[in-house]
Amino acid sequence: MMRVLSVASEAYPLIKTGGLADVVGALPAALAPHNVALTTFLPGYPALAAVTKRAKVVHRYTDLLGTEARILKTKIGDHPLLVLDAPALFARGGGPYGDATGADWPDNWRRFAAFSRAAADLASGTVPGYAFDILHAHDWQAAMAPAYLRYAPGPANAAKTVVTIHNIAFQGRYGYDIFADLALPDIAFALDGVEYYGGVGYLKAGLEAADAITTVSPTYAAEIRRAEFGMGLEGLINDRANRVTGIVNGIDPAVWNPETDAALPARYTARTLARRRTNKRAIETLFGLDTEDGPLFTVVSRLTGQKGMDVLAGALDELVALGGRLALLGSGDTDLERAFLDAAERHPGRIGVRIGYDEPVSHLLQGGADAILIPSRFEPCGLTQLYGLAYGCIPVVARTGGLADTVIDANEAAIAAGVATGIQHDGVTPEALSHALRRTLALYARPDRWAMLQRNAMRADFSWDESGRRYANLYSSLLEPA
Ligand code: ADP
Repeated sequence: MMRVLSVASEAYPLIKTGGLADVVGALPAALAPHNVALTTFLPGYPALAAVTKRAKVVHRYTDLLGTEARILKTKIGDHPLLVLDAPALFARGGGPYGDATGADWPDNWRRFAAFSRAAADLASGTVPGYAFDILHAHDWQAAMAPAYLRYAPGPANAAKTVVTIHNIAFQGRYGYDIFADLALPDIAFALDGVEYYGGVGYLKAGLEAADAITTVSPTYAAEIRRAEFGMGLEGLINDRANRVTGIVNGIDPAVWNPETDAALPARYTARTLARRRTNKRAIETLFGLDTEDGPLFTVVSRLTGQKGMDVLAGALDELVALGGRLALLGSGDTDLERAFLDAAERHPGRIGVRIGYDEPVSHLLQGGADAILIPSRFEPCGLTQLYGLAYGCIPVVARTGGLADTVIDANEAAIAAGVATGIQHDGVTPEALSHALRRTLALYARPDRWAMLQRNAMRADFSWDESGRRYANLYSSLLEPA
């Protein structure tokens, strides 16, 4: 058995703000069949209080980057979970990264450096009784762990390291002034170390130190080598391109399966698609929409520029004029929230908006709406299109990143070959979106074609089987003697 420490700032079902949590939560079960024993390591937010209540203390720090802390041992489902209990850093209201207004916590640099330091200690023999073959760090919040292993090693510093980029736009960039408090030797402030444009870059440091880098789709792995997508790290990614692989996320069948989903009034399979109508009625009631069998679009998303929500907001009058309706669930930028609420006011019965975060409603929307709109400017993998495919809620997506890799556009050739699963558009412009909406509605108007799309989508395999195997192969390749 390979022993892997999976280090992340979120894991479903304990703490989630986005796709990262779904993936980290699914990995232990995804990797178990491949001879990998995975232990998850999370910060001790208040949301974890219930699972850590009777947890065992496995390590105590009197001074972890300036605060007292303990490492606790418990379980997430059937799998081992370690938690960094550091009340001064993590026991506070608000979200994992900021307060209730959305402003970042000013000490995020210390919170996630301490977390990464503790992860490195677990992997390097500093915590008695713990040893791992691989430290797998997810995103910038965990990315300092490989840097700590490299520059401040422990007694058994043998673990190989993997950093997975779930979104290169979030990097953990701070000023030079924090460097002195990171407890790293001066040589770490180097071109191939933690230094980044004169300050400190957490993701950058991890990408330099890691033995392997992955991102969550092959197309995104290629895109981040270019300046439009690399967000300043394209040079580094190019430099280390032979260490970078793209592994698409899978979906957790225990959470996302229309046949068993407890959030759906009517559960169904590809053979009982008519049952979706009951769910559509439930959406109409919940979102105050007209009751009819015409096309119902949905959006389940962070409301940000990354997700193309500004362009979508501008396309809503046309969507309604074409006979469509929209049920939107999301939260994010205040001006975008406002724009969608305004659209709902302009189009009563046609556009319904819920601002907020609601896991059961997100399932209901996938299980009852006809199509899900995902006009992202960039999308490392994207999960909502995968859920849409599994639920027969046809994804209408921008051709970028994981959206390009997982949706097969319903052009005439793909329809004739019986493989089409969705609609893709090139670029995120009003014209491109308008064209995609019209194509979607033309397909919807032909029930035989639409049903075929739904069946193809629901047949597509986005289980973890293949991706789990790829992670396992990557780990074992790092453990082979050079
Ligand atoms: P990202 O991680 O960039 O936000 P993904 O598509 O990878 O995008 O993952 C988003 C995850 O968050 C999905 O599980 C989606 O269903 C969920 N989600 C996004 N917004 C909401 C919301 N307002 N309510 C409930 N779930 C949401």
